[in-house]
Amino acid sequence: MSTPITLDHDPATVLRPADAGYDAARSVFNAMIDRRPAAIVRCRDAGDVARGIALARTHDLALSVRGGGHNVAGTAVCDGGVMLDLSAMRDVHIDPVARTAVAGPGCLLGDLDRTTGAHGLATPLGVMSGTGIAGLTLGGGLGWLNGRHGLACDNLVAAEVVTADGAVRRVDADHHPDLLWGLRGGGGNLGVVTAFTYRLHPVDTVLAGGLSWPWAAARDVLRRHDDLLATAPDEIATAVSFTRDPEAGPVVSIAVCWSGDPAAGERVLAPLRSVATPTVDAVAPTSFVAWQSAPDAGYPLGRRHYWKSGYLRELTDDAITALLDLVPHIPSAASGVGMQALRGAAARVPVDATAFPHRARQYDLLLLGQWDDPADDERNVAWGRRSFDALAPHLADAVYVNNLGAEGPDRVRAAYGPNHARLAGLKRTWDPDNVFRLNQNVAPARG
Ligand SMILES: Cc1cc2nc3c(=O)[nH]c(=O)nc-3n(C[C@H](O)[C@H](O)[C@H](O)COP(=O)(O)OP(=O)(O)OC[C@H]3O[C@@H](n4cnc5c(N)ncnc54)[C@H](O)[C@@H]3O)c2cc1C
Repeated sequence: MSTPITLDHDPATVLRPADAGYDAARSVFNAMIDRRPAAIVRCRDAGDVARGIALARTHDLALSVRGGGHNVAGTAVCDGGVMLDLSAMRDVHIDPVARTAVAGPGCLLGDLDRTTGAHGLATPLGVMSGTGIAGLTLGGGLGWLNGRHGLACDNLVAAEVVTADGAVRRVDADHHPDLLWGLRGGGGNLGVVTAFTYRLHPVDTVLAGGLSWPWAAARDVLRRHDDLLATAPDEIATAVSFTRDPEAGPVVSIAVCWSGDPAAGERVLAPLRSVATPTVDAVAPTSFVAWQSAPDAGYPLGRRHYWKSGYLRELTDDAITALLDLVPHIPSAASGVGMQALRGAAARVPVDATAFPHRARQYDLLLLGQWDDPADDERNVAWGRRSFDALAPHLADAVYVNNLGAEGPDRVRAAYGPNHARLAGLKRTWDPDNVFRLNQNVAPARG
């Protein structure tokens, strides 16, 4: 591929298509994504990021930003442009007294969890260790501590950011608080974050594990679980999943994580456990760090993914029927439907306090298609689309930005809802030329 780039070419920091390591550096989690940047800038610090931005701007090339490379939309990598690869920036520094952690933008969740866990501390992140902290935090960050301590973005107290003009800025409550508001959910729209500072909380042993029930009990399980969440303390977090076992058929499971006193957790969970006799009950005291990587084997790198998603605010009988009808048709053993509960502290933050707007008790519902063979693409994508259409009447006009594929501007608006206009205004201030557009893009507000 010929490119207009004439920069000094040092393969230690800039990879071109003919360089060793180029293919590995351009590959991302979702194997459906196969893009070829003209140059991959392997950043070591904010200075490299600023130079990468200048490179793209000088040559009028598209710019993409790779944190953990996990986003299924594949926006971390671009065709023919400049990709900033932050994956080597994986340092973590803990201040156990101030209870803060500063983490590099290439960190995966496991990097941060293991380091904070060594101090008996944690910050809310997601549910598997291979996800990047950068994209997860900038989009919101739903995981096992949300009920108790809010979303990942709610615990982002400061950041180092390189803005579109190439300046390296300190962002916190006293410096550019408007940017801090936008980083808390606004995705990669406002700048490249080169260090994330999180608030930490004491978290050590949790009562956690999976429960499964016979399919015949699925409706009762969903109802009992929903009733439980309506009144349960903030310490509980749950994720429902529906899968189809090739032999056993449809399965309903709920993963739970109780981050308070284990005896109290046993009491809170009792009504759920007794709704019907579980076929699996693996809920037991475990280290939070171990629990954070429990599902990893189910989501290996390099599978093909197609996701559709929305928020389910009310679990009506009709919504349950629509959900349960989908499961026998799941086309791949690795695919499923997930419902991650957003509740407690995460749901009590005012809608306008952060760019992430979805502050009500609800389920983040995800149709997760995952398979290996490209020959199965059509079948799996068709299932996702059909299933989403069937569920759409029960879903709010809202979606978690980190679950979006390439779905167009209306869906990005749905991801930001009432906060979209303020984000567009910030975009006009901080990135009027829309340099950071390879993301779930919020265009700069017009003057
Ligand atoms: C298997 C799996 C499990 C998941 N589980 C959860 C979960 O439990 N909870 C949850 O909330 N989400 C979850 N997600 C979704 C996840 O939050 C998003 O995919 C997220 O974007 C991943 O971040 P990343 O850094 O790996 O992404 P990347 O693909 O590297 O980046 C995604 C986008 O984020 C932006 N970006 C990345 N780094 C930076 C940076 N430093 N500065 C500015 N912008 C940047 C860019 O726009 C980029 O295109 C999961 C995803 C997968 C695939």
